[in-house]
Amino acid sequence: MRLSSPHVHTQFCDGCSTAEEMVLSALSHGFSSIGFSSHAKQHFDHAYAMDDIREADYIHEIQRLKTAYQSRIRIWLGTELDLFCYSEPSQYDYTIGSLHLLPAADDLFPVDGNKEKILKLKDTVFHGDGLAMADEYFRLYGSYIYAQRPQIAGHVDLIRKNNSAGDLFDENDSHYRKSALQALEMVRRSGAILEVNTGAMARYGAVSPYPARFLLEAWRNMEGEVILSSDCHYAPDIMAGYGQAVQLLMETGFTSARILGTGDSLFDTTLLEKL
Ligand SMILES: [Zn+2]
Ligand SMILES: [Zn+2]
Repeated sequence: MRLSSPHVHTQFCDGCSTAEEMVLSALSHGFSSIGFSSHAKQHFDHAYAMDDIREADYIHEIQRLKTAYQSRIRIWLGTELDLFCYSEPSQYDYTIGSLHLLPAADDLFPVDGNKEKILKLKDTVFHGDGLAMADEYFRLYGSYIYAQRPQIAGHVDLIRKNNSAGDLFDENDSHYRKSALQALEMVRRSGAILEVNTGAMARYGAVSPYPARFLLEAWRNMEGEVILSSDCHYAPDIMAGYGQAVQLLMETGFTSARILGTGDSLFDTTLLEKL
């Protein structure tokens, strides 16, 4: 199968590698295309997301690489949008829509940040009810994707990130599943491609990608499209976890996936084959 990733972070936001190091790693792994997706501008946490100056530098550098490497790899300029961002999407070839922060009690709580803060959110705002917290995350995610209409819906169940011990909420509880499936339905109605994101496998030792298997099975039944991404922050990890993700997709009935194109069209289709 052809290889690519539409979800790559560099030193222009919270990644460790330069954009050119990412291109070289992609080439060494035989990628036919790659898309950059710096965290879009927001008014806070500039170690994590771009500001006005860095966004201009980012766009300039990716355009330079696009030209410099055009005979070897197709490079796309994207951004990862969040509910709290203010970048102009039309500057980009494509957008990934994600939700990393839950607003509550005049504060913002990163769902993929440190566990202390998400536990505080659960205990103080949701009075210990983790299922209600997950429901609020999925409700906001679904409505955001539906309103924003990104090409790609990013890591739909990111709220699982700090739940590997199962102490935030029970992922097998019917209430949890219902909330997650409602978000998926909103993604379907938005027309977005669902991202299968292996980022936490490389960075945090997760054993499977986002989304969970039951969501992939539901997405398959909805006849939705998937795109494989490494959410890469460090060049050597450009395709970490792809083998397991492809295996999971095949087990859940997918035979093909979308992939960033190599010519004028943003997306092509590739058949899934064992990596
Ligand atoms: Zn993200
Ligand atoms: Zn990301």
